[in-house]
Amino acid sequence: MANYTESIEKLIESLIKLPGIGRRSAERVVSYILGAPKEEAKNLADGIIKVKESVRFCALCHNLSEEDLCKICQDQRRQKDVICIVEKPSDVTAIEKSGSFTGVYHVLLGAISPLEGKGPGDLKIDTLLNRIKQANIKEIIIATDADTEGETTALYLTKVIKPLGVRLSRIGLGLPVGSNLEYADSTTLSKSLEARRAI
Ligand code: ZN
Repeated sequence: MANYTESIEKLIESLIKLPGIGRRSAERVVSYILGAPKEEAKNLADGIIKVKESVRFCALCHNLSEEDLCKICQDQRRQKDVICIVEKPSDVTAIEKSGSFTGVYHVLLGAISPLEGKGPGDLKIDTLLNRIKQANIKEIIIATDADTEGETTALYLTKVIKPLGVRLSRIGLGLPVGSNLEYADSTTLSKSLEARRAI
């Protein structure tokens, strides 16, 4: 686009890389930023840097955290012997919003996907098995997505967790086939957790 200055074009190019942002939206964002007070633009830029510098994965469950352990793992009121396994941190957020789970999580940071060349070794499964072996775990709930990758992952997890003799269940009832957990509404998630079936 010849009519933009070099720095504007550069910012547009950066914004286009963001999920859900096309060129049109990027142009609107830049136009907004140009009209906003300098302080507001600075807050946005600082916010992006701060997130990148301070957010890491929880040493225990791999959820997003700004400390060694995430807020949920640190919370004394959470049931530490019930672990809900999810694919990504945004799934934790979705379940937390539903307010229907009082245990702790284990975030796999992905799902098994032969098409993308992702196997069990690429997921946080070793740390999960260690957690189960070391702590006195009462129940494990597999809450991976209802799509092919999520089901494949659930199947694999069942195979490796079952021999450990811990109570195992899978959510899914109420979740449409092929759906992503993070987009499910709170009521559906609550029901789906309640209706978990033993495997
Ligand atoms: Zn944690």
